[in-house]
Amino acid sequence: MKHSTLTHLPDSFGRPLRDLRISVTDRCNFRCPYCMPAEIFGENYSFLPRPEILTFEETVRLARLFATLGVRKIRITGGEPLLRASLPSLIAALAGIGGIEDMTLTTNGYLLAAKAAALKESGLDRVTVSLDSLDSDIFQLMSGGRFDPQMVLDAIDVAAAVGLSPIKINCVVQRGLNDDGIVDLARQFRGSGHVIRFIEFMDVGTLNDWDMKHVVGADEILERINERFPLEELPPNCPGEVAKRYRYLDGSGEIGVISSVSKPFCGYCTRARLSTEGSLVNCLFASSGTDLKTPMLAGAGDEELLAIIKAAWSRRSDRYSEERFDRRELLDDEAAGQRIQMYQIGG
Ligand code: SAM
Ligand code: SF4
Ligand code: SF4
Repeated sequence: MKHSTLTHLPDSFGRPLRDLRISVTDRCNFRCPYCMPAEIFGENYSFLPRPEILTFEETVRLARLFATLGVRKIRITGGEPLLRASLPSLIAALAGIGGIEDMTLTTNGYLLAAKAAALKESGLDRVTVSLDSLDSDIFQLMSGGRFDPQMVLDAIDVAAAVGLSPIKINCVVQRGLNDDGIVDLARQFRGSGHVIRFIEFMDVGTLNDWDMKHVVGADEILERINERFPLEELPPNCPGEVAKRYRYLDGSGEIGVISSVSKPFCGYCTRARLSTEGSLVNCLFASSGTDLKTPMLAGAGDEELLAIIKAAWSRRSDRYSEERFDRRELLDDEAAGQRIQMYQIGG
């Protein structure tokens, strides 16, 4: 259902609440070193026990409340969201919420070929598939020693065939690791109708040993592609779109670049995140969220939950990426160690 009048819930900088990212699991079948390094997430790692994870009913109830506050787009993420059992039934319920105009999901692609048709049928509009390299050795290094990039390429074809398109492909670029493959990845998706987006490696969480020297800035990424396949900038699809868009001059499609480090876009950040255990997290770099599950379990009514969400969003003043370099200097070890991890909130 399309809503003609938009609810406007401004945060302390006037940014409305428009997007909700829901992390449906903290588990993953990959061990990307920049997100869930295998040394830490070994066989004995304790993931969240079932009772601590939001149930589908709780998730849908919260999403419905978020929609009344202005959310129009929901992205399902994780961990690896396709590991969550019966996910299509959750998607069907979320897609049926009044006001939700766009239902998407981000996946590493490993289980996508098998699940694409059911996902489409449930009401999912589109998928974003992560793919850091076409080179098997580098792909394995960046996914924790598992699997093969061909399996992700095959899954993208299946997803396109069932209509989960336009498909976006996410590539996190790390200097000295996969940056030499940027042009190959661009070439792979030219003319396919899919849009590859190159993402600057970010200092999310506390586990990836981030250093500026591993970041390849958006300008350099563009320069490298433009040298081979000339590009021109496109206007944003919508205000506040995080990826800057570029089209190939020969008409072979477009790419995106997400410059969270070199050119932050906090001023347009309209995204709330719902963590696997039911906390509202206002920023990718937050150290804590607002617990919504405990009040729900204690019997809070919708008005009470709405009041908690409104209060948390209204006082939101996060703009970490704009303050990154000042903040990193000031952070003491304790504060730095408390950051929420990427796999808990899903990007
Ligand atoms: N497992 C799914 C996947 O990998 O697509 C969904 C969750 S994953 C956390 C969401 C996205 O965040 C992926 O595209 C991943 O590459 C990206 N990501 C993870 N850690 C990152 C980092 N440190 N900097 C930039 N992007 C990152
Ligand atoms: Fe898993 Fe995605 Fe994190 Fe990689 S980026 S470990 S696929 S959650
Ligand atoms: Fe939004 Fe926080 Fe990222 Fe800025 S740093 S764009 S506020 S999530």
